[in-house]
Amino acid sequence: MPLTTAERALLEERRPLTRAEVAAVAALPLDRLPDLVALAHRVRMAYCGPEVELESLINAKSGACPEDCAFCSQSARFETDADVYAFLDLDEVMEAARATRDAGATQFCIVVAVRGPEERLLRKVIDAVDAVHRETGLEVACSLGLLTDAQAGRLAAAGVRRYNHNLETCREVFPTICSTHTWDDRVDTARRAIDAGMELCCGGILGMGETLEQRIDFAFELAELEPCEVPINLLDPRPGTPLGDRPLLSPREALQAIALFRLVLPRAWIRLAGGRELVLGELQGMGLLAGANALIVGNYLTTTGRSPDADHALLDALGMPVADGPGEGRYVVDGAGAHARPAQPERSTIPLRVE
Ligand code: SF4
Repeated sequence: MPLTTAERALLEERRPLTRAEVAAVAALPLDRLPDLVALAHRVRMAYCGPEVELESLINAKSGACPEDCAFCSQSARFETDADVYAFLDLDEVMEAARATRDAGATQFCIVVAVRGPEERLLRKVIDAVDAVHRETGLEVACSLGLLTDAQAGRLAAAGVRRYNHNLETCREVFPTICSTHTWDDRVDTARRAIDAGMELCCGGILGMGETLEQRIDFAFELAELEPCEVPINLLDPRPGTPLGDRPLLSPREALQAIALFRLVLPRAWIRLAGGRELVLGELQGMGLLAGANALIVGNYLTTTGRSPDADHALLDALGMPVADGPGEGRYVVDGAGAHARPAQPERSTIPLRVE
């Protein structure tokens, strides 16, 4: 019954689900997971279509971060084996951008491990954005931590299309994983990115000790920000961090969460990110049949992913084409939808052929 109600709401009435409706779906036993997965897939196909968007990351400045996010091996407060280096040379950034293009991805995200960018770093990032645009035609996203209004405006003016700033987890759990900034600090930066004219990429990490109820809260809190993209990381406990001995989510819990996120965020690019290989294992393809429609290809920030060829083979096997760009205008929707995004500045995209 809860699945029938959710199906009618999302596919016939085209209305968002209430918190109670999602909680009722989540309360179904995991034996009903195939039915939930099937519904999430139908919702994804109805709202987003079959394409899968590919993005690649570069960890352009690693480690020595002053913040204390309990999952993060790049915090200077924990003894971990994460690399520590200053912002890469432009040549190294460009090499990664070319590899991104060659891997068939259309979006390149420059990530730095900082609380927020100081002036010198911001200038280097803006130079790199310009160079990547000019040489590769890739869309560029950035993830530089907390921003001021002025910094958000400069990134938008430089042509950064999408800004990643994860809430990481729900409001209630956040103080247990970070004490050096607040959940509201993160929300403020997410809003600044939108106000500056960038698309918002905002998600988090599942499996940090949150309950299923809190996972649902998190999905609804994200939906309030109307993100264009929602990365879902599945905790890969890093040795030396406070969460280093946290047990992994089971594959079924992870698939249930992905499907629930799709029901709450029907229009978003839901991107499977770090931890997918470790947690989903043989069931990675199921993640894309449970509502996810975007992948990070190649390596993650501090952990190794699998080869882009393996992901292309998976998409071929699933009959899911690679999107030729990160989906401009996906959030400008019909009158039935509650979400409306400001039009994004025009940027050229070189459609990439995937062999
Ligand atoms: S998640 Fe970001 S802000 Fe937190 S410690 Fe890691 S690099 Fe720093």
